[in-house]
Amino acid sequence: MAIMTPVTLEELWKAVLGEMELSLSRAHFTTWFKNTLIVARDQNSVTVSVPNGFVKEWLENKFNRQILLSVRKLSNEIREVKYIVGQPKSEPIRQDISKIINEKEFQEQATIDQSQDIDKTTHLNKKYSFDSFIVGSANELAFSCAQGVVASLGKLYNPLFIYGGVGLGKTHLIQSIGNKVSSESADRRVLYTSGEKLTATIVESIRNRTIEDIKNLYSRLDLLIIDDIQYIAGKDKTQEIVFTIFNELHNRNKQVIMTSDRPPKAIPTIEERLRSRMEGGMVADIGTPDFETRLAIIKVKAQERGCSLSDDVLSYIATHIQKNIRELEGALNRVVALAQIYNRPPDLKEVKNILNAYLAVPYRKTSPQVILKTVAEFYNITPTDLTKRSRKKEVVKPRQVSMYLLREEIKLSFPDIGQKLGGRDHSTVIHACEKIKREEAVSEPLKNELIMIRQRIYDSFE
Ligand code: ADP
Ligand code: MG
Repeated sequence: MAIMTPVTLEELWKAVLGEMELSLSRAHFTTWFKNTLIVARDQNSVTVSVPNGFVKEWLENKFNRQILLSVRKLSNEIREVKYIVGQPKSEPIRQDISKIINEKEFQEQATIDQSQDIDKTTHLNKKYSFDSFIVGSANELAFSCAQGVVASLGKLYNPLFIYGGVGLGKTHLIQSIGNKVSSESADRRVLYTSGEKLTATIVESIRNRTIEDIKNLYSRLDLLIIDDIQYIAGKDKTQEIVFTIFNELHNRNKQVIMTSDRPPKAIPTIEERLRSRMEGGMVADIGTPDFETRLAIIKVKAQERGCSLSDDVLSYIATHIQKNIRELEGALNRVVALAQIYNRPPDLKEVKNILNAYLAVPYRKTSPQVILKTVAEFYNITPTDLTKRSRKKEVVKPRQVSMYLLREEIKLSFPDIGQKLGGRDHSTVIHACEKIKREEAVSEPLKNELIMIRQRIYDSFE
């Protein structure tokens, strides 16, 4: 056994960090290792202090082996690395939602950014990369599938189908795959499109009689990425062409990636054979990020923009902006703008002020109209279908779901609900609400549908 030179705790940790830095992307390294240090050591163990519980969990579960190995290179009597949270987290601060100011410009700013940096051939946006994608428990599966696709194009997960609510990182992730794949080899044919754009292209090419060219073009790709594929629901001709293209690509082991706001099973009016194609590879979801992930994201993004915010400000934003990551970025845009105006990082009070309008949004009340419209759209029927007398399965369930949500979300009385839904008796409404409530508890698909519908209802508060 080699004789080890004694090292200080600081040197030891520096050496570990040096190794970790080499094996991780910059964003990951910063997320997981910033503000960590060895604080104690005894005979067989060292104790590492970390800034919060999330980092603790990640180091314990994901990096412990690697950390231990590097520690042992310098101090091989160490058998264990322990992690403790160094500073107590600040208490969540109650929000003040009294002030409402116009927030539109901040949302628009985010959309304008998108239009730059688009590659002419692949239609990919260069700004998206794995390096800037923060991994947490809600997107971990999707992230590792994405990496799997890059490592084994067309073979491992084909097609890869990623679904989740708006602003949760689907586009970011699949664009990262595209960028990585095309940067690895210039002669790989990669194309990024959306369900909406693809539909338009197909419709136009049918009109111009160039549909065979389009089919050929798509079938010759190595990687076809279709974002928001749910748009092709109900478009029969488009679906037929897409199915042919999928088959062609699949037969040649070429990769297809899709995203949608919901799982294949929940996309209404999609041909069965296309649905089974979608489900035939790997289906992964992206959920809403938890507090610790939100904190990590906001931290990294603030750093990227050269704005160093205090811990209480970061934690305030992560506590109060919960809906999705796009919204987190929107909030950060405001704070960064403020920092530029003041030429210094704003303090908590100033941040609270500027974010008030933002915070107010999700707490606005919805209306019966919004609920009925959202439910109808979700199930691909019209709001009037909900009020009709029909007992068809396609409308009975959406009708019951509407009743349930009218009750749960805006606490309408049972008779009022019955009245809104075509003059039904209140006992029918009670029965429906109880039924859906019962089923929500036991049926995974229904539970997911309700989550998605609620998310859309909340999303409509703009
Ligand atoms: P979706 O396509 O699911 O609606 P996007 O991919 O457009 O969501 O993400 C919204 C914004 O949030 C984008 O600017 C994206 O870069 C950012 N974002 C989403 N997820 C992450 C993540 N895990 N790490 C860093 N940024 C993210
Ligand atoms: Mg998207």
